[in-house]
Amino acid sequence: MKVHNFNAGPSVLPNEVLYKASKALIDFEGSGMSILEIGHRTEPFIAVMDEARNLVRELMQLDDDFEVLFLHGGATTQFMQVPMNLLESSETAAYVDTGVWSNKAIKEAKVFGYVDVVASSKESNYNHIPKQFTIPPQASYLHITTNNTIYGTQWHMTPVTDVPLVADMSSDIMSRSMDFNKYSLIYAGVQKNMGAAGATMVAVRKSILGKVSSRKIPGIMDYRNHIENGSMLNTPPVFAVYISMLTLRWLKEQGGIPAIEKINDKKAALLYDEIDHNPLFRGTVVKEDRSKMNACFIMDKPEMEEEFLKFCKKEDIVGIKGHRLSGGFRVSMYNALPYESVEVMVEAMKYFSLKKA
Ligand code: PLP
Repeated sequence: MKVHNFNAGPSVLPNEVLYKASKALIDFEGSGMSILEIGHRTEPFIAVMDEARNLVRELMQLDDDFEVLFLHGGATTQFMQVPMNLLESSETAAYVDTGVWSNKAIKEAKVFGYVDVVASSKESNYNHIPKQFTIPPQASYLHITTNNTIYGTQWHMTPVTDVPLVADMSSDIMSRSMDFNKYSLIYAGVQKNMGAAGATMVAVRKSILGKVSSRKIPGIMDYRNHIENGSMLNTPPVFAVYISMLTLRWLKEQGGIPAIEKINDKKAALLYDEIDHNPLFRGTVVKEDRSKMNACFIMDKPEMEEEFLKFCKKEDIVGIKGHRLSGGFRVSMYNALPYESVEVMVEAMKYFSLKKA
């Protein structure tokens, strides 16, 4: 192991994935060419793209109405592409505001139509997931951010609604079992749980597309064009898709989402138990909404935080400084983070606390 990498994203990837990807950079499957040197419309790359799309479908058990795409532009482009494709200019989409990323999505949706922010946890610095809200039955869709990377909150239930459900799952995709078929569109930048920066996964129901008539959708922005072209409307982010494919293969080998979820649950339980029992630290999120991917906590004596960070650095613990908006610490525990890294983190918290006692 190199270091204990708790970065929020881009973040830790499985060693086997990195090893295979580095080999493919020199010689892709014995072709005598790097993966970076082969045409995206050649058979070997089409096979990579197809396998990546099929693995998403298989691992998430998506029904036949879904199409899986690997696009450019990050989740941030989806903040705009979703309303461009789904929201008539005279109609309203419902959004739940759970922090920075949902706010960015709300801002972009307002470019295309009306937005009803049906609930927000802004008043409490986004320390919980709002539970009580009414979704207007005529809303074009409801948008949620299933895991809030900056604040460390996560939806542990799926809102019940008859309107199409859209989710930004960038920071908890593939980490836990859910009935993904309850959703109509799921998007995620792949750089946390599904690979390297550069590709965005979109799983969209064909049946919700083609209903907007109040605007023309530029070709590259229209999901239907990407579907028709097998997610190769233009040159895809070849290397990022390849790494996603390897990461998804790795996940399948681990036993898929249910198996990784068990490990994720154990990692989160170990860390939160320490946060709750160690007198130096305090969690910042209401317990029932805690994220199993990003644990946020502070010290009651903030003047000690720098010292704790330095101490962790010596223990090869990296990436735990909290986002500037929430302060303190953020320990990200994505799929590829070994359980042992969380043990090392917890030992460091215990040892530091003893030293200070
Ligand atoms: N949504 C969430 C929940 C995120 O955590 C992030 C980035 O960390 C984004 C969206 C933005 O993703 P991208 O940088 O791929 O546009």
